[in-house]
Amino acid sequence: MTQTVDKRTVPEAFRYPPQPVPDADTKPFWEAAAKDELTVCRCQSCGLWMQPPLERCRACDGTTAFERVAGTGVIYTFIVQRQAAVAGYLDKTPYVVALVDLDEQTGLRLPGRVVGIAPEEVSCGMRVEARFTELAGGDFRVPVFSPAAS
Ligand SMILES: [Zn+2]
Repeated sequence: MTQTVDKRTVPEAFRYPPQPVPDADTKPFWEAAAKDELTVCRCQSCGLWMQPPLERCRACDGTTAFERVAGTGVIYTFIVQRQAAVAGYLDKTPYVVALVDLDEQTGLRLPGRVVGIAPEEVSCGMRVEARFTELAGGDFRVPVFSPAAS
C-alpha cells in the first residue's frame, strides 16, 4: 500500500533530504558532481575501480584518484520505497533506489534513485544511464539513473 503525504503538511524540518558532507575521501566526487560529471575512485597503478572510495588500492596499495565514468550500467538490485520515511522524500513515495553495476568493471556498483519510469516497470538487468539533478535544500547535485535511451 502506498502511503501518501500531502506536501503542504510536511514539516519544514523534513522538507529537504540530508545533505552530503564531503570529506577528504569524497570531496573530488562532489566537485565533479557540481559539473554534472560522474566520477569513481580508481587506482592509479593497476586501474582497479573502487566504490566506496579508498585512499590506497585494496589490490596493489597504489594511490587513487577520481576518474570519470560513462554513467551507464545495469540495475543489479533495487528497492521500492513505499513508506514516507526519509526527509525530503516524504511526499515522493513510491520511488526506487537501485544499486547499478557500472559498465567500467564487474561489481563496481553505485547506489542511486531511479527516475523517469514507474516503479513497477523497473527490473534487475535493466540498462540505465546516469544524469544529475539538484538535491533540494542545498547546493549539491546528485546522480540519478533513468532507463538508457537505447
Ligand atoms: Zn591497484
